[in-house]
Amino acid sequence: MNIILLGPPGSGKGTQAELLAKRIGGFHLSTGDLLRSIQKKDPEIAAIMKKGDLLPDHKILNIIESFLIENNLYDNVVLDGSPRSLDQYVGIKEIFAKKGKKLDWAVYIPITEEEIVKRLSARRQDAKTGVVYNLITNPPPEGVSPENLVQREDDKPAAIRKRIKVQQIPADLLAEIKKDGIFTEVDGERPIAIIFEDILKKLNLKNENRN
Ligand code: AMP
Repeated sequence: MNIILLGPPGSGKGTQAELLAKRIGGFHLSTGDLLRSIQKKDPEIAAIMKKGDLLPDHKILNIIESFLIENNLYDNVVLDGSPRSLDQYVGIKEIFAKKGKKLDWAVYIPITEEEIVKRLSARRQDAKTGVVYNLITNPPPEGVSPENLVQREDDKPAAIRKRIKVQQIPADLLAEIKKDGIFTEVDGERPIAIIFEDILKKLNLKNENRN
């Protein structure tokens, strides 16, 4: 089963993707994390990300396809952060189709703009482990030193405002996903565990593969 998670920045799609990948024994592919790992070698990508802009569709599609090929990943992929446009969606479907695979579900996690700003300004990443926390909704456990917690460049106020503007999920993308019959939606303004239970229910995964 291949799943895409869609939502505005800060909707919690990364957290839910991680939980979901664990549940189905799959792979969580965050295009944001992948890009953050390659931006060190690619100043052009670093500049785009720092401003909160989106990479061109052809570029992100190439990066996704190369990663899937290199890691031989075509089943149980939980894709988080892509697609962000209709063209990306069409391209990702083609990438899977080349291997005789398809996207089975798209989970949309909407939240309000007010909530986006509140959550993103409180997001911190442990520079040592890479684990992402939220000072409000998902605080770091005792033992994580505050000095290790860093704020992403694009979680600073100017970039947040830009990301909200340029990273709305486009209506034509949602329409196409609905047409394909793989769309489902869960309210993102609830606690992490409740949202996860809701996703499992909607994907008919309840009580399956429970660890
Ligand atoms: P995220 O961690 O998903 O918020 O992504 C962080 C940044 O990576 C975004 O603000 C974009 O600059 C870039 N990015 C991630 N995924 C995509 C995508 N599918 N298309 C274009 N840019 C992307």
